[in-house]
Amino acid sequence: MNERYYTTTGKPINSSIPLGAARDLTGQKFNRLIVVQYLGRRGNAIYWLCLCECSNKTITTSSNLTRNNTTSCGCYQKERVIEACATHGATIGRKIPSEYKTWEQMKKRCLSLNNPAYPRYGGRGIVICSQWKDSYETFYKDMGPKPSSKYTIERINNDGPYSPENCKWATRKEQASNKRTSVVAKFYTGSKTMKELGAEYGINHETLRARLCKGLSLKEALEYKKHSRHKISPRPKNSANSGGS
Ligand SMILES: [Zn+2]
Repeated sequence: MNERYYTTTGKPINSSIPLGAARDLTGQKFNRLIVVQYLGRRGNAIYWLCLCECSNKTITTSSNLTRNNTTSCGCYQKERVIEACATHGATIGRKIPSEYKTWEQMKKRCLSLNNPAYPRYGGRGIVICSQWKDSYETFYKDMGPKPSSKYTIERINNDGPYSPENCKWATRKEQASNKRTSVVAKFYTGSKTMKELGAEYGINHETLRARLCKGLSLKEALEYKKHSRHKISPRPKNSANSGGS
């Protein structure tokens, strides 16, 4: 089977480039990871499929392996977080903090091809900034604690990355009302992206997004004429929310 592999930022790895003269790491062990298979290249980076001691598989680069940047599939870090929580008495017993679960789920949505949510995240180009991808500590430092366990991570621009600039803690209810655009996105999922649609109608996709955020329907947003100077007034919440059904 010719499986397609992706970098941690969701970019396809070019499997047609041979390893060539580069160092073959197959079979070598780096901390918890055993290198199983050469996957290909992207830019200067050489990618490997690795098997972790915990039996998870993970993809990383030669330089991450040899520089000790990647020491496990993520299980090592998880254990350290649990230990830290136990040490600081922040949680009862060995309960995993809610922020950690969010971080872990975010990574799965964007990076695990077999995650059910992957097509709506990693699969459509939603990436995690490298500082967050590799470090829960940095993620927690940037995001801070959740106001309560009802909060979850929201991307302010729904097509943007998971990064400090584009993320905040929000309740599900807040997210639903902020995601009128995602109702529209759903409308053409599988057929067209915002970019493609914008290109087709000769509208910059950011402009299109801005119009949708102001509450215009997809049709209105696409047919909105530049020369009509009247202000776009937001549609009443109810009608906007019922647009998807
Ligand atoms: Zn592991």
